[in-house]
This record gives sequence, C-alpha cells and structure tokens, in this order.
Amino acid sequence: MTLCKATLKGSPYVALLIVALVVARPFEGRVIGQRGPRATVYEGARLIDGSGGAAIEDSAFVVADGRFTQIGRRRELQAPVDALHVDLAGKTVMPALVDAHAHLGYRKGTTFTADNFTRENILDQLNRFAYWGVSGVLSTGTDIGDLIFQIRNAANAPGAKGPLVRTAWRGIAPPDAGPFPPMRAAPFGVKTEAEARADVRELAARKVDFVKIWVDDRNGTLPKLSPAIYKAIIDDAHKNGLRVIAHVVTLADVKDLLRAGIDGFAHLFRDHEADAEVIALLKARPKVFFMLTLWAPRLAAATERPSWLDDPALRESASADQIRQFGEPFAGRTPQSVAAAREEWNNLQKNVAALGNAGVKLVLGTDVGGNTGGPLLGWTEHIELDNMVAAGMTPAAAIAAATRGSADALRLTELGTITAGRRADFIVLDANPLADITNSRKISKVYQRGAQIDRGALRASWRY
Ligand SMILES: [Zn+2]
Repeated sequence: MTLCKATLKGSPYVALLIVALVVARPFEGRVIGQRGPRATVYEGARLIDGSGGAAIEDSAFVVADGRFTQIGRRRELQAPVDALHVDLAGKTVMPALVDAHAHLGYRKGTTFTADNFTRENILDQLNRFAYWGVSGVLSTGTDIGDLIFQIRNAANAPGAKGPLVRTAWRGIAPPDAGPFPPMRAAPFGVKTEAEARADVRELAARKVDFVKIWVDDRNGTLPKLSPAIYKAIIDDAHKNGLRVIAHVVTLADVKDLLRAGIDGFAHLFRDHEADAEVIALLKARPKVFFMLTLWAPRLAAATERPSWLDDPALRESASADQIRQFGEPFAGRTPQSVAAAREEWNNLQKNVAALGNAGVKLVLGTDVGGNTGGPLLGWTEHIELDNMVAAGMTPAAAIAAATRGSADALRLTELGTITAGRRADFIVLDANPLADITNSRKISKVYQRGAQIDRGALRASWRY
C-alpha cells in the first residue's frame, strides 16, 4: 500500500499507522501532536472559511506541513493519493479566532495583580487561548519589562507551539491616568509632546506591533490625553512605520482622533449614536478598524448573572472559585441600577449596525485579562461572538470579524481564513454556529499548525 513511503521506513510509528489505517477510520485521535510530511485530507464537514461568505457543505480540505493546501467540495477536490483521511461528517469547521484586545499576565485564578506578570503565568494563559481555539492575541499596552518580546519571538519561531502574540508593550497616557490598577503603572505617563515623541521612538526601537493610547477622562475623574499630544504621537508613530490604536468611549473623541490620523480603536464609542459626520470621516479612512469589545458593556447592562456561567464547558478551563467570583456583581442589580449601561448598550447596537452598513471594519476584541475583561481567557472570545450577534450582526459576520477581521487588523497574514497557503489553525465543532452562535463553544477538536491540540493534557495542566 502507498502508506509505506521511504520517509517512514524504520519509524516506530509505521506499524501503528498501518494498523490504524487498515482497522479504523477515523483514527485522528492517534496522531495527536504528530506532523509528518504527508498530507491529511479532512472530509465531510460544513466549512466556514472566515470570509463571511456562504459555508461549503460536504467540504474537503488538505493540510500539509502545517498549512492548508487545497479547499473545496469533497467530490471535486483532488487529494494526494497517499493522504491520510479524517472523516468530519456532521461537524462544522471554522478558522481559529484572533483577539485584538487582550491584557496578558495580570489575571491568575481569582487574583488580579502585577505580581502575576510572569513567564509561567503568561504561557499558561496562552494555553487557555489555544484550548478554546484562539490562535492570535494582541497584548494591548500593559506589559511589564522585556518578557513579552521574548514570548512574542518564541511564538514566531519555526516549530513553535501555541498562539501568535503581538504587543503594544507599554501604551501612552497622562501620568497615572491610563488603565485602572493594577495595570496603571505599565504605560508611559506623558505631560508634553516632547516626552510623547521620545516614548514613541523607544517603542519603535523595541519593534512593538502597535502604539496604544488612552483617550478617556473616566467620567471627568482623570486627565485626558490632549489632542496636541496624541497628534504628536500619531505623527511620530507613522514616521516610524507604526500604527496607533486608541482606547476611547465617546463619539467626539473618535472624530478628533480620526482627523488626527488614528489607525484603529480598541472600543466602539457608546455615549452617542453614530452620525453622518463620523460615517463620512470613516469612509474617508477605510483602513481604520474598531475592536468591538462588547464584553464589558453587555455585562454592565445585565440584571442577572449570564446563563453561560452554568455551561459545563466553562468548567473545563475555569475554577469553581472563578465562576462564583464572576457571578457576584450581578446580585442585587435592578433595571434602575443598570439604566445608564442599558443606554450605552442600545447605542452600541445601533452603532454596530450603522458602521457595519457603512462597510467599516469591525473586529473581535474583548479586553480579556484586563480590568473589565475578566479572567476567562479563551472562553471570553466565544462569548464575544454571542455579544456581536446580540448587537445585531449575523453569525457569519461575527465569525468573519473574529477570524479574518481581527487577523487582518493585526496583520497576522498566516491566520484568519481557511485559505491555501495559510496556517492550518482551525476549530472542529459538533454543531453549526451559523444556526446558533453559541454552538461555537461546542468544540470537538482544535488544530494549530495542522496538529491537533491535546486538550485533555492542557486540562490536566491547569493549576487553578
Ligand atoms: Zn483594554
């Protein structure tokens, strides 16, 4: 049989592979972690390719050397004659997710401190992303020391495992007026344009992936980065080939930042509905993207603890203490106590529709790991898909925003879609998320670089 290629001769796996092929198909459970030179064809799934278009029913796709090589309908695809076959009939396949707005390092168990910012904790967090099929994250301006660069470079290295990491390292805000503690000390605190320009040059020397700025007076309680300073930051960043993303809340700041040349937003404005002026500004700057980051505003508007806290799947990566702690703030809420948050959520729903209709790039961001983003790394990205649908997006559009959209925003050109040449990072689902977006949590298998992730081994590694 064609199996016995010269490359396999003498391998201790030959006998096992032959037995597996002859006796049992599918046998994919036996090749966990292996990446041989042979191609694998995955057959029979409904395929969502991340482009936002219609799914391919009864698909087939080929993976070789960690990349997709062919995608099509099963009957039309010409798979290599010696390919391994994996039967995915009844399953749905979608690309791995990418989160453009995360804060790595601070959350651990039920604690939230700068002391948690260690290699061990960040690698554990990346494992949680991998477990839930998240293959790329941006650390959004709250990193401490050099560690994140070491982790980013290691994740980029040939043969590396785990998600790709991008970083804004230390963002820029007025002194002590960026993120809330414990992340407050991380960004550069600037008082003048000259200081801001010097910090941008340091960021460029460190080869950050973005410059992050905070433009928010926290309801009048803190100084806000001035237009003069953020214009200087954007100017110097662009001269150094860097893009700038802004934490914002208000429509007025979004407009001013667009006029100043901003490249993207870490949040969607929620104090007002979109107007014709902002749509015109956005149409003039079609590359500008919004991370939707609906997680916190939707939770803030809720009067009851979210039902997904009781989903047994959450217990695969969250402790009982984390789940209990997460549910506590919802006790005692009333429609009156969340009225202001409801108003913001209503604005967000309208703004998602208005910007979506105008063709503005809307991408997945969650704030996970940060002050309002919570500790449920990996799980949160799936809830955000549900949030996007609750805000009015179709499931197909939400999935495209969370795969191609966020990958493109981060310029992770290897991720985002199931396309020939891209990295074979994908999620196999037991149910169709186009019919019900909560089915994105019904995960059968996760693949990164063409290798199935051993989710059981990851679960066994959790220490909290
Ligand atoms: Zn954030």
